[in-house]
Amino acid sequence: MDNIDNNLTVFYPHDEMTTFLLPVTIGCQYNICIFCSMYIDCKYSEVPFEEIEMQLMHGELYTERVFLTGADPLSIGFNKMKELLELIHKHLPYCASVASYASIRSISKYSPYELNQLREGGLNILYIGFETGRDDILKLMNKGHTVENAIAQSKKLNSVNIKINAIIMYGIAGEGQSIENAIATANMLNKFQTNKIITMSLIIFERTELDQMVKNGEFTPPSRSERLVEIKTLLENLDPIKETVFDTTHPSNIIKIKGKLPKDKRRLISEVF
Ligand code: SF4
Repeated sequence: MDNIDNNLTVFYPHDEMTTFLLPVTIGCQYNICIFCSMYIDCKYSEVPFEEIEMQLMHGELYTERVFLTGADPLSIGFNKMKELLELIHKHLPYCASVASYASIRSISKYSPYELNQLREGGLNILYIGFETGRDDILKLMNKGHTVENAIAQSKKLNSVNIKINAIIMYGIAGEGQSIENAIATANMLNKFQTNKIITMSLIIFERTELDQMVKNGEFTPPSRSERLVEIKTLLENLDPIKETVFDTTHPSNIIKIKGKLPKDKRRLISEVF
């Protein structure tokens, strides 16, 4: 999802379409995942607190929910995050929920104590790009985390009751790899508690390194039918610790299905094909 703000594209999750959007960072500090073109032309910077406060002063007093925009707002560090949440509470006293994108890399830098402080300050949902449960594919895509660390950081979030909306990307392992990828991804997701599993389908964006690899014949994206098998295999192997939403309604998806696991598992599988 996106809208245009000062000639910069602002990305936010489908679910947060009607949420008050608060810019915290511009661009992506990491910016080297080889499939991603979101911030390819955008220099990373932090939005000054004076500007953030101006935005908050213009917010509707009864705003109940805020989404922090930027690829990974937690990259500003604990002290600034804490100050930011205090500012939100000062200007939007009825705001009960703050959500944000976050990377496994950034979450790794926070102690459980710090995360608990942020949750008490209102931060209660993180949208995290896990993409896959395969280390070889994470490495190929230059994602910057390992499966082991993804599980460890997710358990840390579970322990402080910050909800995880896990973003995974089918097709990312390439042609002929989808079943193995789905099983590995399900195995990873089964090891911690998610609030929601959001799927996206791999899109090859122009000017990315992955696009170049496709053109060079070094990576072949899977077909539509293989991607459907991947979604079905993922569903078959998901065995969540607690009820979780499974959602393929993001616009990139080749099918749109949504339900709760485990109760809707059969129905969801039957809707794949
Ligand atoms: S996928 Fe996320 S972390 Fe990777 S480059 Fe894109 S915005 Fe940055």
